[in-house]
Amino acid sequence: MNPSKRPVILCFSGLDSSGGAGIQADIEAIGQHGCHAAPIITAITVQDTHNVSSFELVDASLILKQARCILKDMSVSIIKIGMLGSASTAEAISTLLKQYKNIPVIFDPVLFAGGGSGLAKDNLLDALKTLIIPHTHILTPNIPEAFHLANTTSCTQTAAQNLNNMGAEYVLITGTHASSPKVTHKIYHKMKCEHTYNYSRLTNEYHGSGCTLAASLAAFIARGTDPITACQNALDYTFKTLQSAQALGKGQLIPNRYL
Ligand code: PLP
Repeated sequence: MNPSKRPVILCFSGLDSSGGAGIQADIEAIGQHGCHAAPIITAITVQDTHNVSSFELVDASLILKQARCILKDMSVSIIKIGMLGSASTAEAISTLLKQYKNIPVIFDPVLFAGGGSGLAKDNLLDALKTLIIPHTHILTPNIPEAFHLANTTSCTQTAAQNLNNMGAEYVLITGTHASSPKVTHKIYHKMKCEHTYNYSRLTNEYHGSGCTLAASLAAFIARGTDPITACQNALDYTFKTLQSAQALGKGQLIPNRYL
């Protein structure tokens, strides 16, 4: 491979009209880490920095047509998946994942907006568990997403182990939603906690932190970093984007991904 060539990351994400989350977060974070984002929009949301008020799905056949023409044209290093929005979109994308088994998948299982509104229609949860998680190299749920997907509320370790069992090779559970004074993120592999990452707790709320993390993680993996170090690097970068986030609207702060 030509070492100067930027790795291509195929991104399936929603469009957030505030520019804090979704595909814009992917393009910014991936570009900042020397990779190229090929963006495929799965849904168009109506939202500001407070919350999402509604969203429209992009037709699954159009999503597939775009993905197939990119996969034929470009050498895609990583597939990064964010908001899918509905079971029919998940079904369409799973057909690609079966066909392109050699491309690692980084999956941020988006179920809710930062303001709490749902970003899922139909039977999305079941489709993610059976169709997307079994193809996932690194899954990056926050605690509520991990509990929903793993169908448990007992503890994050049980949730992570269930998700490893469903087929996610690595599960990075982000700890922002815990009530602990520090924020602790943990990565699980083969049912074992492989590493713990500690950060001080920031006081504000942010719009697009999970997307920033998963997109920068995809870039580090695309550049050949091992999963444990890639998570460290992506968490460090995301933390800095939050420390320098700005109140561009009246709600949650928008991460500054141009560091
Ligand atoms: N993707 C889209 C399109 C969104 O609109 C949102 C939140 O509103 C998210 C993902 C998740 O955002 P966060 O990274 O804050 O969890």
